[in-house]
Amino acid sequence: MSNRQTKTDVILIGAGVMSATLGSLLKELAPQWEIKVFEKLANPGEESSNEWNNAGTGHSALCELNYTTEKADGSIDITKAIKINEQFQLSRQFWSYLVNRELIHNPQDFIMPIPHMSLVQGEKNVTFLKKRFEALSNNPLFQGMEFSDDPDKLKEWIPLIMEGRTDNEPIAATKIDSGTDVNFGALTRMLFDHLKSLDVEINYKHAVKDIKRTSEGLWEVKVHNNESGSTEYHTAKFVFIGGGGGSLPLLQKTGIPESKHIGGFPVSGLFMVCNNPEIVEQHHAKVYGKAKVGAPPMSVPHLDTRYIDNKKSLLFGPFAGFSPKFLKTGSNLDLIRSVKPNNVLTMLAAGFKEMALTKYLIQQVLLSNEKRLEELKEFIPNAKLEDWDIVVAGQRVQVIKDTETGGKGTLQFGTEVVTASDGSVAALLGASPGASTAVHVMLEVLEKCFPQYMMEWEPKLKEMIPSYGMSLMENPELLQEIHTSTAQALGLSQQELAYS
Ligand SMILES: Cc1cc2nc3c(=O)[nH]c(=O)nc-3n(C[C@H](O)[C@H](O)[C@H](O)COP(=O)(O)OP(=O)(O)OC[C@H]3O[C@@H](n4cnc5c(N)ncnc54)[C@H](O)[C@@H]3O)c2cc1C
Repeated sequence: MSNRQTKTDVILIGAGVMSATLGSLLKELAPQWEIKVFEKLANPGEESSNEWNNAGTGHSALCELNYTTEKADGSIDITKAIKINEQFQLSRQFWSYLVNRELIHNPQDFIMPIPHMSLVQGEKNVTFLKKRFEALSNNPLFQGMEFSDDPDKLKEWIPLIMEGRTDNEPIAATKIDSGTDVNFGALTRMLFDHLKSLDVEINYKHAVKDIKRTSEGLWEVKVHNNESGSTEYHTAKFVFIGGGGGSLPLLQKTGIPESKHIGGFPVSGLFMVCNNPEIVEQHHAKVYGKAKVGAPPMSVPHLDTRYIDNKKSLLFGPFAGFSPKFLKTGSNLDLIRSVKPNNVLTMLAAGFKEMALTKYLIQQVLLSNEKRLEELKEFIPNAKLEDWDIVVAGQRVQVIKDTETGGKGTLQFGTEVVTASDGSVAALLGASPGASTAVHVMLEVLEKCFPQYMMEWEPKLKEMIPSYGMSLMENPELLQEIHTSTAQALGLSQQELAYS
């Protein structure tokens, strides 16, 4: 069996949206650099980035209630919402650049406009939503947001949700039409087609087994060619570990000090998908509710209009659950194998602290379809089980680490870029807000790993992302300009008309 050996500038591990984004950025900034990709599956975007494995929300904090918290004095903290919205604007700009340069085509195949709504019931929640609306609607990033607690108005906005509602509990919603549904699977595939056209070597059915530092200070990646059964060794100056849930075990293999004392907590997910086109047609929004007390933020229930394969669909969920696998196609031994002498205490501390969460997730796994229907009925009172099927979503591996505020073994719900001190290797851990902020996260990788090139790259970065390095909230004119130009490039305004 032949042992292929190569040397290259950059290796990207995993063919998800993160590697696709980093590769596309690098090909614009340093076109002469040679890039190789290794993906263990047969196609790009088959794990979390696949359209059926995530909710496809272009997260920009327009509707997600967990990004705005109520402070002790009753005011609403919108810091996180602003941050996430600003990050999404970077994605919109980069995608628009790629479309305008005809590097990717047909944006309607990966992004569609859809109103983003938040919906709450009960007096306390209605008061919270109104305060949230007041705090956000004056901010240029959230322009156009509407609030209503008038059932007649809500019937206009969300007829399917309002039909058959007999209780007299106060109910309210906010609505903003500039939300999006993003098919991250389609986007990933487009970006890999683009990279292939630039002679990036993309190796599918190639699983990375080990990563070691060479005596010359490079990284040697050991790869199993699943088709031929052979082992290959590829060396690079820079390695990006974009393995999604599979990133943590690969980061641990590097042995870098930054990889120590970190653990992963896998959370699985299920969606209910409507199989009745008549019901699908009655809804046109992404409607986010409030997480139940004790539920983790990633299990906020939402009813989403989706555009998949040019067809409108309706998804409800996600129902979170526990599975020891780090990838949907992973192994039941993933969790246990990730426990190492350096992180065992961190993991044990998290296990002890997160007993309630583990119990909650196990209860969620054991839910019957009838129980899931009860949760769906909180959104669609007239829902019938026969109109809905179950699909298994992707795995999210939440980061566990020791923090100053949370102490040993603290569960993190965001994303973390872990890099070696010399910037020669970077890994992306965690899953939220996820694919929507891929451009922001990959810019962070560039800033941390290639500080020596940032000055040289800045003009090109500004050409691709005009607001790079600036706050759009503080530059409302630029925000308006960017909003209009990206909506035009991505066809968001025309599509809105076509589908309304
Ligand atoms: C239920 C759910 C709902 C979500 N909803 C949203 C949402 O609404 N909006 C949003 O923006 N984000 C959402 N996300 C998050 C988003 O899907 C992820 O953040 C994003 O897809 C991660 O992309 P990635 O490239 O890091 O990982 P992935 O897409 O998982 O890609 C990683 C790739 O690496 C490969 N790989 C792993 N290990 C190896 C190895 N050893 N060798 C070779 N290849 C390897 C895998 O096969 C895979 O193809 C959601 C996620 C889930 C699970």
